[in-house]
Amino acid sequence: MPADAANPIQQPCVHCRECSRACPESLDPETLFLALAGDDWPSVRAGRLETCSECNRCTGVCPSHIPLLDWFRWGKSELREQARADAARARFLARNARLARERDELEAARHEGRTARPAALPAQAISRKDVLAAIARGRSRRGRASAAPVPSDAPRHKPGSGP
Ligand code: SF4
Ligand code: SF4
Repeated sequence: MPADAANPIQQPCVHCRECSRACPESLDPETLFLALAGDDWPSVRAGRLETCSECNRCTGVCPSHIPLLDWFRWGKSELREQARADAARARFLARNARLARERDELEAARHEGRTARPAALPAQAISRKDVLAAIARGRSRRGRASAAPVPSDAPRHKPGSGP
């Protein structure tokens, strides 16, 4: 309730609708006033209080001398405060969600690191004949090819020259 809304000559709303007819923004000051007095914030938002231009015409025509503009200014400041609180709450929740997501990703990465097996070495198709040929080439390079016994199924051709 606005601090200066207590008006000694204020009378109860008589539902004359004079305020609605006077409003250049096509608002319903009576409904807005009743919603603000009852802390009915969904109705305040639905009544588009934030579009009130604060022209004060509604107050001027009210036969009950209800300080409508005081109510509307207070209501708009409350809406701004609520919006700030909602934004802060949304940021807080988003931060918590991000931290939880990062924690889960880190945990998953650690789990994968513990359980992952090294990739298998690619299978090498090397025949016994190739192995023997490589041995023979090595011995030849070291000048011991003639001294070394040649395996029975070693290649008879010069290594690298083909059969
Ligand atoms: S003060 Fe706001 S609600 Fe009242 S007549 Fe002006 S625009 Fe309409
Ligand atoms: S002008 Fe005053 S008394 Fe009439 S409906 Fe609006 S708030 Fe109520």
